Amino acid sequence: MKRIWAPAGAGLLAAIGILVATRRRQGPVPTRMRLPLGTNGGAGTEIAPKVVLLGPWGRTQTNVYLVRDSSSWVMVDSGWGSDGPRIQAAVRSLLGPDLVPTAILLTHAHPDHGGSARELAEAWGCPVYVHPAELPIATGDFAAMTRLAGPLDRWLILPLMRAIGDRRREATLARSSLAGVVHALGPGGVIPGVEDWEWIHTPGHTPGHVAYIRASDRVVLSGDALVTLEVNTMAGILRQRQGLSGPPWYTTWDQGAAISSISRIAGLEPTVLGGGHGLPLTGTGTAAVVRAFAERTRRPPR
Ligand SMILES: [Zn+2]
Repeated sequence: MKRIWAPAGAGLLAAIGILVATRRRQGPVPTRMRLPLGTNGGAGTEIAPKVVLLGPWGRTQTNVYLVRDSSSWVMVDSGWGSDGPRIQAAVRSLLGPDLVPTAILLTHAHPDHGGSARELAEAWGCPVYVHPAELPIATGDFAAMTRLAGPLDRWLILPLMRAIGDRRREATLARSSLAGVVHALGPGGVIPGVEDWEWIHTPGHTPGHVAYIRASDRVVLSGDALVTLEVNTMAGILRQRQGLSGPPWYTTWDQGAAISSISRIAGLEPTVLGGGHGLPLTGTGTAAVVRAFAERTRRPPR
């Protein structure tokens, strides 16, 4: 056991070190946005003008982004179910007591990205948006979850859900369902009420996975379609190694589609890549690094 936990602890410290160093390097940048980022006690890190990273948090190095549109703030992804209080605290610290996001945009409806969406949507009185193909998962449709399952779902989650019986299963699904607060994104990349950003369909990890892009400077928030944490090796997870990776294959619905989506993201030539897990990729070489990764990505062995 020690052999596992010692490197894991060292990895965690290294990740924290990288995070602290990155924050130090970026420093306060009040001229690029109206937030007092240098005085907020580390609630967020500006990774591009008007794009603030909350996180990465926890062993899964999960990211939540606050994005300033021309008229309001919106949030991209909402962390795990337990992340709600710290997201609310970070948003209060960054935006002040009177300002809240006007929408929550999910890249997909897995519990590490939509876990706090209902709690936050109800607290802020704002809608949650997902791709239309993601609605059945977001609203706890068990038949759809069975149809659209990834390997881990098939091997573990679905058998467990069946084993607990219909009533407990429905109660469990109802607790995580976003029914009543979730809406479908509009066609053609349009995000209701948001002008500077658009969505593109990046299916594979889930059927309705989307990435959010700001075309004016090619900032891409890629969710789990392309992450910056090595989620597909045990050593990568335990040591929280930063590095480009496709979605975690064990929770991915369609690997072929996911690989095509990586190419689609590379084709956007991102200047900044903020994935769902790990420290975002920034700097002049970002587009080339993403392109090289897409080119060498092959369908992994089943
Ligand atoms: Zn994830």
